[in-house]
Amino acid sequence: MRQYLDIKEQHPEGIVLFRLGDFYEMFFEDAVVASRLLDLTLTSRDKGKDDAVPMCGVPHHAVRGYIAKLTELGHTVVICEQTEVPIRGAGKGLFKREVVRIVTPGVVLDDDVLDPKLPRYLVALVPTKEACGLAYLDATTGELAATVLAPPAVIDELIRVAPREVIVSAELLVESAKGAQLIAPLRARSICSSGTAWNPAKIPSDAEARTELGPLVVVDPPVALAPRDLAIRAAAAVVGYARATQPTGALPIARLQLYQPGDSVVLDEAAIANLELVETLIGRHKHGSLLEVIDETMTAPGGRLLRRWLLYPLVDVAQIRRRQDAIAWLVERPALGETIRRALSRIADLERLAGKATLGVATPKDLGRLRDALAQLPELVALVGSGQDKNTAALSPLPALLDLQACLVAALPALAKRLATSLVDDPPSLFDHKHGPVIRAGYDATVDDCRRLADGGKDEILAIEEREQKASGIASLKVRYNRVFGYYIEVTKTHLTKVPANYVRKQTVATGERYVTPELAELERKVLTAEETLASRETALFRAEVAAVAEVARDISAAGAALAVLDACGSLAHVAARRGYCRPVVDDHLVLDLVDARHPVIEALLPAGTFVPNDCRLDPGAEQLVLITGPNMAGKSTYMRQIAQIALLAQIGSFVPAKSATIGICDRVFTRVGAADNLSRGDSTFMVEMRETASILAKATRRSLIILDEVGRGTSTFDGVSIAWAVAEFLHDAIGARTLFATHYHELVALAESRPRVRNVSVAVREHKGEIVFLRRVVAGGASRSYGIDVAKLAGLPRSVITRAHQIMGQLEGGSHLGASPQLSLLPAAPPSPALARLAAIDPDRITPIEALQLLAELKALC
Ligand code: ADP
Ligand code: MG
Repeated sequence: MRQYLDIKEQHPEGIVLFRLGDFYEMFFEDAVVASRLLDLTLTSRDKGKDDAVPMCGVPHHAVRGYIAKLTELGHTVVICEQTEVPIRGAGKGLFKREVVRIVTPGVVLDDDVLDPKLPRYLVALVPTKEACGLAYLDATTGELAATVLAPPAVIDELIRVAPREVIVSAELLVESAKGAQLIAPLRARSICSSGTAWNPAKIPSDAEARTELGPLVVVDPPVALAPRDLAIRAAAAVVGYARATQPTGALPIARLQLYQPGDSVVLDEAAIANLELVETLIGRHKHGSLLEVIDETMTAPGGRLLRRWLLYPLVDVAQIRRRQDAIAWLVERPALGETIRRALSRIADLERLAGKATLGVATPKDLGRLRDALAQLPELVALVGSGQDKNTAALSPLPALLDLQACLVAALPALAKRLATSLVDDPPSLFDHKHGPVIRAGYDATVDDCRRLADGGKDEILAIEEREQKASGIASLKVRYNRVFGYYIEVTKTHLTKVPANYVRKQTVATGERYVTPELAELERKVLTAEETLASRETALFRAEVAAVAEVARDISAAGAALAVLDACGSLAHVAARRGYCRPVVDDHLVLDLVDARHPVIEALLPAGTFVPNDCRLDPGAEQLVLITGPNMAGKSTYMRQIAQIALLAQIGSFVPAKSATIGICDRVFTRVGAADNLSRGDSTFMVEMRETASILAKATRRSLIILDEVGRGTSTFDGVSIAWAVAEFLHDAIGARTLFATHYHELVALAESRPRVRNVSVAVREHKGEIVFLRRVVAGGASRSYGIDVAKLAGLPRSVITRAHQIMGQLEGGSHLGASPQLSLLPAAPPSPALARLAAIDPDRITPIEALQLLAELKALC
């Protein structure tokens, strides 16, 4: 118990699993918590006594599942093993025990827990008043990146990184209000709700950070970070924390990638969620997300990379074109593309295998998979090269994009060869000689000898028998074995005279005599110890193989990274061909022009050919703000989302679902779509809507793409129309960003009369025998009315209610409330309302979201 208490004192942060014989035991509060979470029986040590200690335990062979459950529930687990073999004869409890590993929600290495296509990030935050350092690490692959953000942008980046665990300084923890504010959105999202733990990690100082990071290569972004040391300190914090969880292994980190938010399209929480990039808005499933449609990757690293591409679309035209070239080249060579994809499918996760070897947790099976993967590399590299057109200048763009050199470094073939000779064909998943052999026969003489001997040493016995028969001339001489004497030579009575002098007589039996010789005694010793010798020799050899892998781990993961790029491009090419996507023209202009564009996700869910394509043109110089009217269910939201998704697809280098497409680079994509269910954060829907709108008005630039869906819906009609109107004017007058603005307030169509760059379109419907039919075509001109009652009828409201609604509407339209001509009387274009005057006085670049909110409250008061 002393040992236990010592260890527990050093690790108050986690549940300590203490190895006792065949069990891992938990005590005190740990036992109480774990027994509840894991459904274990809570017993106690020294039962009956006053100071009985609560305890519970799990059998050692099942421990993985229990650890997984605890960490997925957000707990940290400290694993404490017996690290010394007890001296024979010494009493129980003299094992030395040490912490061998700490499993936290953010640092999990168990394949059964990890999603192959999802990174597992641990994040560290180093906040100051003006800026916040943010670093994230995937301990399974060693991917490490860091940046510096303005405090309001931290949440958006946390949402994008989606860590399973966030560490911050103890000081910040003390200011719990601030801490809770930061973490709230993560908690509200199921991926992080349980996995996010506030660990009071000590944030390293500048000097400490440098020591912690040591020889890591630091890669700076094109525009230098400031203040850079905040990012470095965050990186050191995340590395130091992860390192502490692995007392026995090294982390597989090769470099620290610093990045600027502006290196890629800025996507905030709302855009990532509303555009359903990686999961759906409702239910948060991958099925129904944009990622699901484009992810046809064959390998886990390819899947992880594609996800990353989608969350960090490029803003650099040259980089985008390089990816496009590679994809186009594969699209033009479908057979080769499919061959490459098939070859990729046979290649295991090189990045994570390299990581596991470095961490010292690779299993024999892992090395077997690595060996098989390495064996495939030369063929793959040859395949990529084989597409090269010999006599034209059309060089394959693939090698330029891939670091194929990484797959060809000499260390890898040598390692492949080594593993091919050292490992059995099908190595076991656990290293435990009960699970079968690991080292291949013929690789090591000791292993071979021991295996034979462990089998009872039959060959040796036969050899001795034959030799002794010849030497003594006793043909019936036998070498035998029994429990009492071990190996002995038996000679029948008739031959006793011929027994050599060096035989030592052991026993007389009815038929003859039994003897032993020094040689037999030696054999016996060998046979008895063979299994033990075999186990330790195989262990040593296997460790040497793991070490050999670890030594070239960087080359292995570099090869893995190159193949991930190949896989991601292959996936995008496959999708482009299969779904009839076109290569968009991506440039630095500001025009967005799509012909026959489709929604990538809905198109994929509908029967082929039934999705109705539509055009779209946005241009800050001409058709800057497109106002989309039309009844509910007409297809407004779908139309707008498809345009934003297409723009993002184009900026990751992908082909897009359209007949033709021109996309001027967007620096940010904003959305305000539907009623986001941020209610868990305690805000009303209208508050969320206004906050998102405020944030857009504050941050959008002329280069941004803005999607506004039903702004103002969450309040009364008058308020709603007024806010929608004012917001649209502001976007037109003050920002000039390409904007799609959907509204069921058809009054807004009048805006085009006073604003030159506003265009009205509507989603066409036809009335057929009193029923409304959705045509899904976007046509020029605004809708003349809302058709709300028609849709209500379609939805099955009782006929009497529908009839009454028509009556009331007639009264309203003819009545004094709205005037004879609602579109015009409601909001005169000139002179501008006080709200507009107030808005015109605002500089959106200098306004914080909070101020914007206050402004909106003020605007509302004016209505
Ligand atoms: P709105 O925003 O106008 O209320 P939505 O965009 O939500 O309408 O679309 C309603 C439904 O119509 C969607 O569920 C979608 O499946 C279908 N839809 C929308 N656009 C198209 C289209 N172009 N082709 C086929 N179906 C469509
Ligand atoms: Mg809608």
